[in-house]
Amino acid sequence: MTSHPDTSTWSPRTIAAQALGAIDEPSRALVPPIHVATTFIRDRDNAYSSGNIYGRPDNLTVREAEAIIATLEGAAAAMVLGSGMSAATAVFLSLKPGDHVIAPQVMYWGLRHWLLHEATDWGLRIDLVDTTDLVALKAAVRPGETRLIWLETPSNPMWTITDIAAVAAIAHAAGARVAVDSTCATPLLTRPLELGADIVMHSATKYLNGHSDVIAGALATRVQDDFWARIRRTRSILGQILGPFEAYMLIRGMRTLPLRVKASCDNAMELALRLSNHAGVAEVLYPGLPSHPGHDVARRQMQGGFGGMLSIRVRGGEAAAIATAARVTLWKRATSLGGVESLIEHRASIEGAGSPCPPDLLRLSAGVEDPEDLYRDIAQALA
Ligand SMILES: *Cc1c(COP(=O)(O)O)cnc(C)c1O
Repeated sequence: MTSHPDTSTWSPRTIAAQALGAIDEPSRALVPPIHVATTFIRDRDNAYSSGNIYGRPDNLTVREAEAIIATLEGAAAAMVLGSGMSAATAVFLSLKPGDHVIAPQVMYWGLRHWLLHEATDWGLRIDLVDTTDLVALKAAVRPGETRLIWLETPSNPMWTITDIAAVAAIAHAAGARVAVDSTCATPLLTRPLELGADIVMHSATKYLNGHSDVIAGALATRVQDDFWARIRRTRSILGQILGPFEAYMLIRGMRTLPLRVKASCDNAMELALRLSNHAGVAEVLYPGLPSHPGHDVARRQMQGGFGGMLSIRVRGGEAAAIATAARVTLWKRATSLGGVESLIEHRASIEGAGSPCPPDLLRLSAGVEDPEDLYRDIAQALA
């Protein structure tokens, strides 16, 4: 069995570095073991006094990762799943046919596509609205029918900022829950549950793991209510759990989360400022810039930085943007984000028709490298 000390006075950096101070009691090992068993011995009286029955609903190594994420989010409980998409879809598939859902116009494209084209087949009624516009959001809410408002902030790939506390007040007045895809804010920069959100979702593939070598997702809840129990059941029945090896890798990655997030935020801020003055750049989209429409809300709802993600709109349009991405040598041309290495991507090529992403946009995921190296490489590519 794994033991944990009292961590109630620990800061997030200490919690992450020590993975909640977990110790494997039988061996006194500083690193908890990877539990691979898929099945467990029943007691003679037919009970399962260990609490462990089978590997699809739950796993001990997965529970260790969940305890860390729950603590970092200030949550009543957390759940780790096989990917960010399985975390998100577990929430939507725990709603009921006919339920009305509001989601942002600017959001992770894979989830937006699924909501618009496939979730409707399950009977969900989906409206995409500009969630940064509280008047438009309020007008879209149907009291008694709207069950969930899904947010993403900062949101892919324009880094728009939604006021979580304001949306939570609107949602709760209408009897709806609020779930926040907080992948790009990480548990360090924003704690959505403290702002009134009911559920937080992460693609743990990104900052939480941080090394571009695990696909994983996470959910955290403010209260363990019936809806949370339904989501747990969805994960168990659909088999959306993470494997124990990946859960171990995720725990290992999270040990340096605060250090990596700080380095990425610092790099993103410096790159945003310097690229704003580059002749080849028409516009920099980064919530840390006072010119960004979401800057004031971001200042209130994000602490310690504005995230490691920014986008640039390249002067000369789509062809110039693609040519810029072709000329970088240090930045890696690849999808995904939140790893230690910096990535650059022409998003419109990925998102396809119906995307709000402008064709001249390059998305930058600032890693933890030396910012001078990063700037020099992109500046020559833009020249
Ligand atoms: C990557 C990502 C997802 C999807 O996560 P996967 O782990 O790839 O399934 C969802 N939301 C955001 C903001 C993401 O960046």
